[in-house]
Amino acid sequence: THFGEKIVAMDAKQDMVNAVFHGVADRYDLMNDLMSAGVHRLWKDAMVQELAPPKSGARPYRVLDMAGGTGDIAERIINASVGYAEVVVSDINSDMLRVGADRSKRWRYPAQASFVEANAEELPFPDNSFDAYTIAFGIRNVPRIQKALNEAHRVLKRGGRILVLEFSQVDVPGFDAVYKLYSDRVIPPMGKLVTGDAQPYQYFIESIRKFPAPPAFEGMLGQAGFKRVKHTSMTGNIATLFSGWKI
Ligand code: SAM
Repeated sequence: THFGEKIVAMDAKQDMVNAVFHGVADRYDLMNDLMSAGVHRLWKDAMVQELAPPKSGARPYRVLDMAGGTGDIAERIINASVGYAEVVVSDINSDMLRVGADRSKRWRYPAQASFVEANAEELPFPDNSFDAYTIAFGIRNVPRIQKALNEAHRVLKRGGRILVLEFSQVDVPGFDAVYKLYSDRVIPPMGKLVTGDAQPYQYFIESIRKFPAPPAFEGMLGQAGFKRVKHTSMTGNIATLFSGWKI
């Protein structure tokens, strides 16, 4: 059936995404720095600044960092909370988590993080169990985005917040042409040089071009039940930070 074909296509997408991140896990952090000239650090800092995790409280502050990969967001959240926040770093890819768990031994507060292999579309966590859900540069890789957002809403407590950081389409006149040239001509060869394979970076560029524009993605957040949905564009629209609340 038509429906059956769609499921096969979704599974094929996830398999391809898994192969990409399996292949790059060990050099993922280096590639991020090279491809974004270090700017991904500023976007991640901005996300955590927007979250503003508490530094103390009557009860634990629990965050789920989904598609958390090598733990960049988790480390920042924990540091910003001066070791108060408890972050579950969750990712579908055990190689990315392994690199993250290894790296976390050298963090300032290593005991505040735990690493759980899971699919964003089907979370192994109870309802109403997190104060915040973060996902940075992860949602566009998930085949069924709406399903993942519904799951995010389910596991958040009332009063909980979702923050999504994702690449967007650059549409600033002049800058768009430069960005396209950079994406097509610089990123794949750079990827090949560092990881030995240009294919993953071809995927990377296409996945950004296919990701819904901010108003459409805000609609999906609303569909999942999130309120007070908003977005902020960063660095000439290269990245967008979305926010919503479960109230
Ligand atoms: N958040 C990290 C960061 O900002 O550096 C990692 C982002 S990396 C570009 C995307 C991550 O999404 C990969 O680690 C990949 O394994 C993960 N991912 C892809 N599909 C997923 C899914 N269905 N569920 C959970 N994680 C997924």
